Amino acid sequence: MLYISTRGQTRPHTFTEAVEAGLAPDGGLFLPENLPNLAAALPGWAGLSYSELAAEFFQHFAPEIPAEEWRQLTAEAYTRFDDPQIAPLRTLDERTRVLELWHGPTLAFKDFALQLLGLLYKRQVRLTGKKLAVLGATSGDTGSAAIHGCMGQDGIRIFILYPDGRVAPLQERQMACTGADNVFAIPVPGTFDDAQRVVKDCFGDAGFVAQVNLSAVNSINIARVLAQCVYYLWAWLRLPESERATAEFVVPTGNFGNVLAGWLAARMGMTCGGFRVATNRNDILWRFFETGEYRQGEVHPSHAPSMDIQAASNFERYLYYLLEGDQERVRSLMLRLREGHHLTLPRPPAGLRASRMDDTAIVKTIARVWNQYGYVVDPHTACAFIDLAPDRVSVILSTASPAKFPEVVAEATGSEPRHPTLEALKSRPLQRHPLDATAAAVKSFIVSQL
Ligand SMILES: *Cc1c(COP(=O)(O)O)cnc(C)c1O
Repeated sequence: MLYISTRGQTRPHTFTEAVEAGLAPDGGLFLPENLPNLAAALPGWAGLSYSELAAEFFQHFAPEIPAEEWRQLTAEAYTRFDDPQIAPLRTLDERTRVLELWHGPTLAFKDFALQLLGLLYKRQVRLTGKKLAVLGATSGDTGSAAIHGCMGQDGIRIFILYPDGRVAPLQERQMACTGADNVFAIPVPGTFDDAQRVVKDCFGDAGFVAQVNLSAVNSINIARVLAQCVYYLWAWLRLPESERATAEFVVPTGNFGNVLAGWLAARMGMTCGGFRVATNRNDILWRFFETGEYRQGEVHPSHAPSMDIQAASNFERYLYYLLEGDQERVRSLMLRLREGHHLTLPRPPAGLRASRMDDTAIVKTIARVWNQYGYVVDPHTACAFIDLAPDRVSVILSTASPAKFPEVVAEATGSEPRHPTLEALKSRPLQRHPLDATAAAVKSFIVSQL
């Protein structure tokens, strides 16, 4: 299995090479050259534990890592989760299931990929003897999950940029209060998209990338997308067989990484009833699904900050499939977008739709779900709770613990959710490394820390 770039100007990479590079050298994103067909194998995986399922799945994508090593990697990756099911599927009523993806160390779904990615980096450092500088931008949850995947690992330093004042205070604490000396939490002025641009600019400097052995840890790393496929398969296998073909997955969406993983799993043979992209007031994707026009607007802060994005980086992977693998066209469209143009694209294929929810509705929805089911959801998950299909099962992906967003949840339900992991952070000192939002400032900081 080899990995190609969405933009077609990169030689095929192995899984290990693609993980190490993060972004493809031509500026595109890596994708498997061909997707395996897992339809025949899937039903036989119903009896596997979560980490066994992940090991089976990854063997199709990285045959260069032996099966036994995959089993060790996935077993270790999911040890720090506080539910024996890893991703428990709750039943709220006959048609409404919730897949809880927040039982990992940072209480959001990003741990599924980043606990594993930290171990893949560690494996790489061991095999190559070369130290790694890991760089990423975050709107909140990616950064803390990446930090918790890499902290304390020998030979790895991790640098995470985030928009100053625009991540939730507890999210900042998860990044800046680890006490680990290989972790650098870097607030920059502006929005998430500004921070992301600085990261992309750093990766655009090939000399610098080689000098510090730079690796990308935002949602563009292909290992993250693949690791996220596993919980879709896991949830699908937990549904009664009669419900699998029609169940709709509903996915709170920002960078499009989570829902893309499910959509890829469906293309690999997980026959289901489709996907709904649930956005907050930053509704570029909703507008695209309504009109076919992909037009970036301003980013507005919302109650669901991890979805405050107007430049969904994984959208490029979707575009590759939408344009039937025409890499030249993907490349020219992405360049047009970067120049500030909007794109008019083919209509999405059947089985994909979108919804949006503003802040007022988020608070009302948290209250309604609490009153109706006695179940508390966080503001991101709340965005999924509208427009549920009346006639079939919805599997709602719950992307964060409500305890990460105590103010909004308390406004809706009257009581503040708490979690011991987060309580412990409140008394620890913040270690912030503020920088200007320029590649020059970030590059020289990284060099000074090696
Ligand atoms: C990252 C995140 C999202 C958005 O996921 P994408 O993969 O960027 O679409 C939604 N909810 C929470 C809690 C997140 O951390």
